Amino acid sequence: MPVPDHLLLELERGLRWRAEGMYRGRYAPSPTGALHLGNLQTALLSWLQARQAGGVWLLRIDDLDTPRNRPGAVEAIQDDLHWLGLDWDGEPILQSRRRGLYASWLSWLRRSGALFPCRCSRRELAGLARYPGTCRDGGAGWGWRDRRLPSWRLRVPGRDPDGSGDVVVRRADGFIAYQLATVIDELALGITDVVRGEDLREALPAQRSVYRALQQQPPRFHHGPLRCDAEGRKLSKREASSGLMPLRELGLDAPAVVGLLASGLGCVGPGAQLSAIELLDDLTQKGIRAGHS
Ligand code: GLU
Repeated sequence: MPVPDHLLLELERGLRWRAEGMYRGRYAPSPTGALHLGNLQTALLSWLQARQAGGVWLLRIDDLDTPRNRPGAVEAIQDDLHWLGLDWDGEPILQSRRRGLYASWLSWLRRSGALFPCRCSRRELAGLARYPGTCRDGGAGWGWRDRRLPSWRLRVPGRDPDGSGDVVVRRADGFIAYQLATVIDELALGITDVVRGEDLREALPAQRSVYRALQQQPPRFHHGPLRCDAEGRKLSKREASSGLMPLRELGLDAPAVVGLLASGLGCVGPGAQLSAIELLDDLTQKGIRAGHS
C-alpha cells in the first residue's frame, strides 16, 4: 500500500533537505541521567563529522520513555555540551513533543496490515536471537487481557535481507518504541548521517526494516568506539562517577576533557589539551576526517 500523501507531507522538508545533499547530523541522547564520558565521546565524534562536512548538527532529546527520564537531565546534557564547546543548530528537538507525528505513522502501518499485536513476555523471548513469530497469525487480539495491552510488531518478511525479525514499534506499556520514533525523526529532520556509539549497531537491522516498511531510504550510519571504565566495563549513566561533573570538580578544564575524549577516538595522542574548535581546525588542516582514520 503506498504511503498516503498526508504522511509524506510530514516528511517533505526532511526529504528535500536530504535531496539537496548537505550533511545533516544529529546527537540523540536519552535524558535518563548525566551523560558519561562515552556518551560525550560520541557527541564529539558526531559534532566533528558534521562540522568538518560544513553541515548541520541537531540535538534531539529522546525522551519518549517518560518513566526513565530524570529531572534536570535535559538541562544537564545541554550544559555539558556547551561546556565542551559542542554547539548545535537551532533549538533542541524533544521527541515528547512529536508524539502526534509518530502516532499518525503508527496508525497507517496498523491500518495497512503491516502490524500485529503480540503478547509474548520478555521472559518468553529471552535468549532468542530474534522473534520466533509466535503471535504473527493475529491470535493475540488487540484489547486488554489480564489487565495488559499487547505490543505491536512490524511484520518483517522472513526473506528480509537484514534478518531483524518482527520489530516492536509500539510497546505494551503504550509508548512508541525507539525503533519507530528514531526512523521517523531521521526522515522528518532530513538526517543524512547518523553517528552514534558501537553499542547501537545491533539496532541497525531493526531500523533498516522500519525504513523499508515506511518505503524510505535509510541515512548513512557510523558507529564510534565505546569507552570503558578502569575494569574494562561499559560505562553506565547510572554511575554518576562516569560523567563530567567529577572531572570539573577535580579542576579539569574543557581542553583537558576534549583531549581525553579525542584520544579515545584516536584523533590525538594521550595528554593532549585543546578546545573543540582547535581540534576541528587541527584535523581539517591535516586532512584527517574524524572517524575515518
Ligand atoms: N537515544 C538513544 C540512546 O541514547 C540513541 C539513539 C541513537 O543515536 O540512535 O541510546
